[in-house]
Amino acid sequence: MNLLDLAPEQAAASLRSWLEARREPSYRIRQILPRLWNKPVRAWAEATDLPLTLRSELDATFPLPRLALDARQVSRDGTVKYLWRLEDGLAVESVLIPEGKRRTLCISSQVGCAFGCIFCATGTMGFQRNLACWEIACQVREVVLETGERPTNVVFMGMGEPLHNWEQVDRALTILNSPSGFGIGARHITVSTVGLLPGLSKLAARKEQFRLAISLHAATHQTRLALMPVERKYDLDRLMKALEVFERRVTFEYIVIRGRNDSPADAEALAALARPLKALVNLIPLHPGGAVPLPAAGAAEMAAFARRLRALGVSVSVRKSRGLDISAACGQLRVEVERARRVRTQEHGGVQQQLRVGLPE
Ligand code: SF4
Repeated sequence: MNLLDLAPEQAAASLRSWLEARREPSYRIRQILPRLWNKPVRAWAEATDLPLTLRSELDATFPLPRLALDARQVSRDGTVKYLWRLEDGLAVESVLIPEGKRRTLCISSQVGCAFGCIFCATGTMGFQRNLACWEIACQVREVVLETGERPTNVVFMGMGEPLHNWEQVDRALTILNSPSGFGIGARHITVSTVGLLPGLSKLAARKEQFRLAISLHAATHQTRLALMPVERKYDLDRLMKALEVFERRVTFEYIVIRGRNDSPADAEALAALARPLKALVNLIPLHPGGAVPLPAAGAAEMAAFARRLRALGVSVSVRKSRGLDISAACGQLRVEVERARRVRTQEHGGVQQQLRVGLPE
């Protein structure tokens, strides 16, 4: 049984009945459960506060699956990008972004993505599969194992659309937030979505105050349609109506693309959407790697767009570009590693070569 795929309460129940059947003292649960998430171990052998026989029985009954670190890049600004190889050979990314006391981990929820936003490297891959709950939560677990520290914040802004994989993301949210899981406060966990309405209502129904970010990127139907195919199914009108009943402050993520969504008229349309919801607009610089080469707005243009929005009564933040010297945008590292692998395979007469990027030998 994979305990890491269960919500902490279910994992505790399974462990409790297993321990009872072995006539183990009841305090063992308090020793074992934190080893899943709070104070994780790589393998039960590391849980040296448990008797040796119990450790090997745990190993036989509840093996702890791992994500294999396939590539790791460290930026000069401290941003760390991880590429995890999954058991079926597919790969997903996470990015750890340190900033002062805050350590934000951006995680993936799917391999590839079905939504094909034209500015996004992940969108070029198409959809491959949903991640299982444990593969989502273990991105956090592996980072805790590697760094010895729990991230302060987790954002679902890596590969995939989290609300398109709701069942697994739902349980992963519980693991992240539960005191018996990672114990990360709901207000420090952000789910980012292009606006899948069925998933939005399920997220809204959860009692915890998880944060919601909407990948908006355009404030009119026509502009959004040209950037994000999802607009055909769940258009801005329906999305805004759904957000009216979402009783939490929303952030609008807005990649600024020169000549596409940064005109004064775009600012006015965006302000008209943001003001009634008191939404925070987060302006994001464009990273290269999407399906269509698009011109990134420069720092001065971003600042001018931000000023215009503020003058229209909108709360605005401008996201700093992090990890510019590494492949820090969603999907970029996997695209680059796999391209490099193909090149090396061709160079070596079709013999598959092992490639490890940025890892010490
Ligand atoms: S921006 Fe998000 S929803 Fe759009 S293609 Fe990329 S991963 Fe998918």
